[in-house]
Amino acid sequence: MYFMSKIILMKPFLYIDSEFKNHITPHGHPESPERIDTIIELLNSEEFANWPRGECAPATVEQIALAHSQDYIYELMDKAPEEGLVYLDGGDTVLSPRSFETALLAAGTVCKAVDDIFNDKNASKQTFCAVRPPGHHAEAGKAMGFCLFNNVFIAARHAQETYNIKRIAILDPDVHHGNGTENMARTHNAAHPERPIFYISTHMPDIFPGTGNPADNNATTLNIHLPYGCNSEQFRELYSNLVFPKLSEFQPDLTLISCGFDAHTSESIAPANLTSDDYGWLTRHICDIAGNTPIVSVLEGGYNLDALKKSVHAHLLALESSSPP
Ligand SMILES: [Zn+2]
Repeated sequence: MYFMSKIILMKPFLYIDSEFKNHITPHGHPESPERIDTIIELLNSEEFANWPRGECAPATVEQIALAHSQDYIYELMDKAPEEGLVYLDGGDTVLSPRSFETALLAAGTVCKAVDDIFNDKNASKQTFCAVRPPGHHAEAGKAMGFCLFNNVFIAARHAQETYNIKRIAILDPDVHHGNGTENMARTHNAAHPERPIFYISTHMPDIFPGTGNPADNNATTLNIHLPYGCNSEQFRELYSNLVFPKLSEFQPDLTLISCGFDAHTSESIAPANLTSDDYGWLTRHICDIAGNTPIVSVLEGGYNLDALKKSVHAHLLALESSSPP
């Protein structure tokens, strides 16, 4: 008797919660709660309705302290207003009454995505965490660039501390340099070279935060500058020639994507000209390199709501099509 074997694509886990809207930013601020509405609308569509959902959960103070100083954590808690907004970083980064708990939820959800993979709840070993506020600019003791806690770095350290994961890559295609993540990774790698966190960033050099220097590249740091007006061809060439070989060579046990979509041509925040398809292309290549090792993708930038929706769509379909059987 012959049985037809059926190839079942395992669907990546999705993490999203309307509570991520509780971090309020001023009217007209690009990092708006509407970003979450946009992604919820996409994920509620028929196409994604049967994708598995992970549970969002707040981080503990101990988890946040894997990346941030205790003083900074309590400073944010103390500064959260009872009403209105408190400005932390000029007009960029704010605290609203529920920002602190929303930032805990963002970081905790990425840690939970790590837990679900290493506790074998998520057999696909792939995830997308649609969280806000974003994290890659947040420094150990400083809020910056819309970011309060460094969600991705906290989750990387959580994976090392809790599951003894040794080699972690953080790939950051956001159009801005993740200054916070690079600095945290450098400090960590100097102290623990046996458990390296490889930070890879492709970004535009002449926009916020103005950091990220290819001259500083070493075995665990890779900064690559995008040319002004970077188009699909230039982007794909840079990744194919400079990023993928290094990522492959590093052989990560876990890959985190600091998944910013703000190099899209519809974004007014930066002079780059990528398409949603570029994010699908990038995702497929990251999955190819990761093979059977896990991928945790975490939302960073992406502010034009239509471009965000299309880019997340392309990203998710690429993750699904690359899921290990
Ligand atoms: Zn960005």
